[in-house]
Amino acid sequence: MSLIQSTSQSPWYATAVTLFPEMFPGPLGYSILGNGLDQDLWRLDTVQIRDHALDKHATVDDTPYGGGAGMVMKVDVVDRALETALERQPGRKLIYMSPRGKPLTQAYARHLVHDYSGIILLCGRFEGVDQRVIDTKELEEISIGDYILTGGEIPALVLLDVCARLIPGVIGKQESLVHESFENGLLEYPQYTRPQSWKNKIVPEVLLSGDHQRIADWRQDQAEKITQMRRPDLWQKHIGKK
Ligand code: SAM
Repeated sequence: MSLIQSTSQSPWYATAVTLFPEMFPGPLGYSILGNGLDQDLWRLDTVQIRDHALDKHATVDDTPYGGGAGMVMKVDVVDRALETALERQPGRKLIYMSPRGKPLTQAYARHLVHDYSGIILLCGRFEGVDQRVIDTKELEEISIGDYILTGGEIPALVLLDVCARLIPGVIGKQESLVHESFENGLLEYPQYTRPQSWKNKIVPEVLLSGDHQRIADWRQDQAEKITQMRRPDLWQKHIGKK
């Protein structure tokens, strides 16, 4: 994948800083996101952290000060890898995928796409990275949920999937984004397609009425009921905004 010029017209540009560059673009190379890459609507490249280890064994980790299980990614090696990513296009947001981070949300992904020319994602392995690189590079820590994965590559792919579909042109009908779950603080209403009757289950009559206002009201009502039932946390926020 090629490097790009730092202009406002440039495609949104992501770099994964990782010990496993072959995991990218992985699933992001398929379907609409893959088409977006082919059409140069967004770009994705990688930096191999191991290339930035200077000793003859290409060591990227060491035992933790203070003892304890596992290994920690070395501050100098990770710092050099991040510098390589930054040199390709300065001014991009630096993110460390981390279970200690701020939870990833739709609103945050929108902020990354709208307010930055691109992002650099540091993917941790082992017990994570030396705190000093997080502090000096002012990495924003982002979590994809309250569970522990083996490495930051899958979290980075998740974050990139959420962001890439928000890039203008990647999804043909931008309108289809507007009604999705979380976009208006509610979960999405139920969806149906043909056939009208299946195993004695009938599509709700209102959806066949052709009455756009009634359909919109029904969908809003369903979205509110589902959110209230399944996600009281979101519902409280939603009614707080009204
Ligand atoms: N020792 C760390 C802790 O308890 O917080 C967990 C390290 S985890 C085995 C290795 C790497 O996977 C982390 O450095 C991070 O990059 C990534 N990772 C694991 N779970 C994650 C999550 N829920 N969200 C984002 N990244 C995660």
